[in-house]
Order: sequence, then C-alpha cells, then structure tokens
Amino acid sequence: MADGTSFYITTPIFYVNDAPHIGHAYTEVAADVLARWHRQAGDRTWFLTGTDEHGQKILRTATANGVTPKEWADKLVSESWYPLLDTIDISNDDFIRTTDVRHEQNVQLFLQRLYDAGFIYTGEFEGYYCVGCEEYKQESDLVQGTGEYVGQLVCAIHSKPVELLQESNYFFRMSDFAERLLALYEERPEFVQPESARNEVIQFVRQGLKDLSISRSTFDWGIKVPWDESHVVYVWFDALLNYITAAGYGSDEEAFAERWPATQIVGKDILRFHAVIWPAMLMAAGLEVPKRVFGHGWLLVGGEKMSKSKLTGIAPSEITDTFGSDAFRYYFMRAIAFGQDGSFSWEDLSARYQAELANGFGNLASRVLAMVTRYFDGVVPASGPAEPADVAIQETVARAAADADAAIERLAIQDALAAIWRIVDELNGYITEQEPWVLAKDEAKRERLGTVLATAVEGLRALSVLLHPFVPKATTKLWSALGAEAALGELGAQRIGDVGTWGQLPAGTSVAGLEPLFPRIEAVAE
Ligand SMILES: [Zn+2]
Repeated sequence: MADGTSFYITTPIFYVNDAPHIGHAYTEVAADVLARWHRQAGDRTWFLTGTDEHGQKILRTATANGVTPKEWADKLVSESWYPLLDTIDISNDDFIRTTDVRHEQNVQLFLQRLYDAGFIYTGEFEGYYCVGCEEYKQESDLVQGTGEYVGQLVCAIHSKPVELLQESNYFFRMSDFAERLLALYEERPEFVQPESARNEVIQFVRQGLKDLSISRSTFDWGIKVPWDESHVVYVWFDALLNYITAAGYGSDEEAFAERWPATQIVGKDILRFHAVIWPAMLMAAGLEVPKRVFGHGWLLVGGEKMSKSKLTGIAPSEITDTFGSDAFRYYFMRAIAFGQDGSFSWEDLSARYQAELANGFGNLASRVLAMVTRYFDGVVPASGPAEPADVAIQETVARAAADADAAIERLAIQDALAAIWRIVDELNGYITEQEPWVLAKDEAKRERLGTVLATAVEGLRALSVLLHPFVPKATTKLWSALGAEAALGELGAQRIGDVGTWGQLPAGTSVAGLEPLFPRIEAVAE
C-alpha cells in the first residue's frame, strides 16, 4: 500500500539523435501513470525524465547536419522532446538535460570522488565499438553482417558494422563489485524486475565483470574528466548520473536525501547499464542503489522492435491526432503486460477504443448523466435504503481500488486497469438489470429510481478518481460534468484510499450533460 512516503520515479533519459517514436512514448506513459497514481495515493512523488545529449553519435549526427552538437540537441529538445510530453500528457516534475550545468558539474564531482577513493585508473583498451549503442561489444554480442555488410561483424542490435578502437583510457574498477552485486540481487529479489530480467542479469554478473572504460580522448563532445581535460566522460557513465544530479546530488543534499533512491523504469535493452554498472557506480561512491530497476519489453510492429533505424518508427502524434492522448495512454497500458514484449496494431487499437473506451466507459458515463438529467432535472437524487445489488457495487469499488493499488505497487499496470474495469463492467450490468427507465414509469418506484441513479453516480465518481492516472482528459471532463469539482474539489487531489467511502457526492449536486468522452472515429489509418 502507498503510505505517504517518498516515491521517486525515472524514465531513461532519451538520446537526442532522433525524434521520439511510440516506444519512447510508451515508457513515458508507464512512468507517468505510476507517478500520477502515487500522487493520488498521497505519496510525496517526484517524476524525472530528460534527454541524453553527449557522445560520438550526437557529434556525428550534428556534423552531418551542419550544426554544433549543442545546437542539434537544443533543436531536438525544443522541437521534439518537450512537445512529446504535451502530446501524451506527461506530468513530470523535472526534465534534465545532460548539457545542464547542474548535471555537468556534479558528474565531475562524482568522478573526482571516485578517483580520489582509488576506483579509477589509467589503462589501455582495445575493443569492438558500436557507435549506435555507444558501447564496446563482447564478441558474443556481434553477428555476421548481411546485405551490404556481408563479411563484416555487425552489432546484433543495430545490424551495422562495429569499429575496432584502441585507446588509452580511464577505467572504473567495476570488477571489484561483482560479489556485492550478486549479494544485492540475492538479498533484494525485487531490485531487478521482472524475474526474467533478473535471471539474465545474475547470469551475466556470475561470469565475472570487467573493469569499465569510462573516458574517451578521440572526440570532445562530452563532460571533461576533471583531472585530465584531454578526456571526456564515457556517455553512459555521464548519462546514468542524471538520476542523482537532477535529484540534488552535489547541489541540494537535503532534496537528494528526501528523493533518492528511485524506482527506475528502463527498456530491457538497457537493463545491464541500470542493473549492473549503475549500482556498482553508486556503491563505489557510498550511495544507496535504486529501489528497483524494472525492464519493460519492446513494442513490436509487424514482429520487429520499434525503432527508427529499423524504419518501423511511428510518431506518437500519428496515433493521438486520430484517437486522442487518453486512448494512446489507455491502449498501451491495457493491451501490453508491463515487462513483456507487446505488439502494436492499428486494428487492435481501434477495436479497444470502440469496445472498451467508447462503448464500455464513455457510454456508461453519458447514459447515467442523461438519466439524472431526464428523471431528476440534472440533480443527483437522494439514496433510499440500499439493496443487495447496490451494496455489491460499493463492494466492487472498494475491492477494485485495493486490487489496483496492490497491482501498481508491483508495477503490474495492466492488472490495475483490469481491476478498475470490473467497476465499468459491473455498473453497466447493474443498469441493465435495474432498468431505471422502467422504474421511471412508476411514481411508486421514485425512491428506488433515486437510489439506483445515486449508486451509478457514485460509481462514476470512483471511476473518475481511479482512472485519472490513465485517462486524465476524459476523467477531468467527467468530474466536471458530475459537479464534483465544486462539491469535492480538484480531481487530482482525490485520494485513492478514500475512493470506497460511499456517498461522497451529495444529493442535490447539479450535474451537466456530457459530450461523448470517446467520440466515434470515422476513418482509421490502415
Ligand atoms: Zn549497436
């Protein structure tokens, strides 16, 4: 159960070499739903996202486009990454860019502390480097190229040739931490999730860890190594530190102590960085490791991982322009089990939009409000004695709220939605069975009609609160139509833990009619 404690959640910071696709938006929405839920649960919540702007790949992209890397990053952040947050209604509390002074200075501070403590040394390094991954590759991570790259070794993720690089670099003594990491995975099984990801990480670390090359001297787009300005910090070492520099490390120790450690959501392809390198860095600095690192699955389109380099990238606005941001958020949280790969298709999105959002939830809301308007002049009626069917609705709401909260706690977002949707389904069934339109024909059943509609209105109140983290726009419209804004205050301030308390919306509250929350969509892109 959420209990008013600190909840700090992060997305990975996104690399500004290109514009966002729905895979990035998926990660943002998942973190946003968790943040909004925890805020409504009363936790002191802080949600961080941002952009990763250093490294050779950015330098090359910028150069190819005839601008400096900082100009390139500024352009991508203002034209693509900030707007993405609006497109899908992200409620982040902070946005860090790795070119921020607050980040650069405290990366240097962190590095200097590790250097002074003896965790960094100079060494020679030769290895296969993938510029796409910004990472040296083990030979086991490489495959034989196909097509134009036949006869060359290519990165298994990018399908592009790797480069054999030799450098004199600074190294982080990561090998010192293998035992402590294995002990961490053992003692705190929830540290890496889901289970499949945890097993993979344990296997990887059991093979032994190599020291990590953490500087580059062959290009200069990065944070300078404080004791040797001819080197810049390896982009991953730099990027991982955003989670603490944004939280106040080195600049606001009080805020840092309040926020850190975080729940960290990452794509499974960057899980090793977050579950192996990152905690080792923190251990070396004497800092706490993350609360947990959760690796979500990939979005597949036509069976392939979503990415621009594979030409399957879909811009989030292609979906929101037609279906709206709420449908985007709902669809990806409902259709894909968080932690597993999931397939996106326009047909599935369209079908769920119609069946679940428009017919299931949207119609329920419109019908109930229309009946309150027709039979009680738009005023919430008083409730008479509760019958078993009414009590069953109250119980469904209380159970759904508790089940959803428990699901969110274990990051099973799709289970939370499924639990809440039981209220939608049962309320629809309740109205069909109670037949308010029949009760309305008999003056002697006036009190019963009032009870049925008051129960339905309370159900909508609960749905507004519980679905707000998922579909913020639709629930805000519903909240306002229910007259709840005036009676109970702002929707975002309603507490998850109080949802089951019945009879909150007082009899006599004026409701308004409701335009369809999820209007019919005529033509859908195929
Ligand atoms: Zn690669």
